[in-house]
Amino acid sequence: MIERREFIQRAGAAAALAALGLPRRSRGAAAARVVVVGGGFAGATAARYTREYAPDAEVTLIEKDEAYVSCPFSNEVLSGERDIASLTFGYAGLARRGVHVVIDEVLDLDPAAKTVKTRGGKTLTADFLVVAPGIAFRWNAIPGYDEAASETIPHAWKAGPQTLLLRRQIEAMRDGGLLVIVAPPTPYRCPPGPYERAAQIAHYLTHHGKGKSKVLILDPKDSFSKRPLFLEGWKHNYGDMVEWRPGAEGGKVESIDPKTRVVRAEFDEYRPDVLNVVPPQKAGLLAEKSGLTDERGWCPIVPESFESTRARGVYVVGDATSAGAMAKAAYSSNTQAKVAAAHIASTILGTRPPRPAYTNTCWSLLAPDYGISAASIYTIGPEGRIIEVPGAGGYSPENAPIEQRRREAEYGKSWYENITRDTYG
Ligand SMILES: Cc1cc2nc3c(=O)[nH]c(=O)nc-3n(C[C@H](O)[C@H](O)[C@H](O)COP(=O)(O)OP(=O)(O)OC[C@H]3O[C@@H](n4cnc5c(N)ncnc54)[C@H](O)[C@@H]3O)c2cc1C
Repeated sequence: MIERREFIQRAGAAAALAALGLPRRSRGAAAARVVVVGGGFAGATAARYTREYAPDAEVTLIEKDEAYVSCPFSNEVLSGERDIASLTFGYAGLARRGVHVVIDEVLDLDPAAKTVKTRGGKTLTADFLVVAPGIAFRWNAIPGYDEAASETIPHAWKAGPQTLLLRRQIEAMRDGGLLVIVAPPTPYRCPPGPYERAAQIAHYLTHHGKGKSKVLILDPKDSFSKRPLFLEGWKHNYGDMVEWRPGAEGGKVESIDPKTRVVRAEFDEYRPDVLNVVPPQKAGLLAEKSGLTDERGWCPIVPESFESTRARGVYVVGDATSAGAMAKAAYSSNTQAKVAAAHIASTILGTRPPRPAYTNTCWSLLAPDYGISAASIYTIGPEGRIIEVPGAGGYSPENAPIEQRRREAEYGKSWYENITRDTYG
């Protein structure tokens, strides 16, 4: 294991070259070994940018699946506007950039030794570890909804077969049927996601002879991201088809019977034709198992670097983190990963890490040509927590001309092209 001080000594010559504006190559020094676990938006970006910022580092990305299916834009699979293939990305782009890609599952991670062991029998030891396993579900937090129940009552909160299962159920639903979405409590992946999903499902129902159906969101919360814009957009596009029931009005679900699909909420009982449950969440299981989570189930990090507060030289990025005001989003994950990559590279090269600025913009598409957005700029507040910069960023205006909604839909699609190219291209 190479410690920071040793790195600085070894890379002194390289740092001097960098100061002169010459390529930062630490020739002769042992290459730093960086192992990234998880090839989602966070891990793939961390792998790519660590190689870019520290070209001599040996970067290995370990991901359990051959290809990544992106959750962003997976709600559009439900409306039939996209197929899963358009959301699927391989790792050849990262390999071309010099990242060593290993398709395998990490079963054990020792943060102190910086060692990982895989299902395929490999043991890798690193100088720097980046952990990006995404989220896990809190099964049975809603009594009755466990992993087995999700095989017939999809969550579709990890894109792929679950998305297709929900899609098939929506296609088979009768006109006049009831579709219930159970929204999760905060914090969770993609705060506006359940509400965008309701709109995309309503789009499908409206255009496929099921216009008498209802989409009901049962929510333990009393508000949600971009609420006034969603209420306006649902009404504009789908009349009264989408209804949102907040916690204060009986929206909190108390139990689910997976056999009969009966949903018991505080005041009422529902028997939907199609049921979609987005369960309460926590950091990915590997993070929990390796002691990187806190009592709330998320990974605490140093806001300047995304280094774990639990282990030096171990960085956690993406949805698994407890990142103050930052939303759990692909865009956030991408910025966090770049900050972690810059911090690792600075440590390798012995340079001063840059002071980070974080951003996130989140577009939601309520119809193919109807988009809304929220943009946030974050900084590190006086209490050492990531906070939103007051007055920076903002929301799409309410009651905007339809041309603006159309343009925002285009911006959203173009953001998606850019971020997936930045991450996997
Ligand atoms: C319906 C929906 C819509 C969304 N829309 C948007 C949007 O429009 N904009 C936006 O910014 N965000 C959006 N998001 C949020 C976005 O998907 C997440 O914030 C993002 O995927 C987080 O990236 P991540 O890398 O932390 O986790 P993930 O994307 O989940 O990646 C984690 C990776 O780690 C791998 N992994 C886990 N454990 C192991 C292990 N032990 N060994 C090897 N590999 C492992 C997994 O296979 C996975 O590939 C949406 C989410 C949903 C559900």
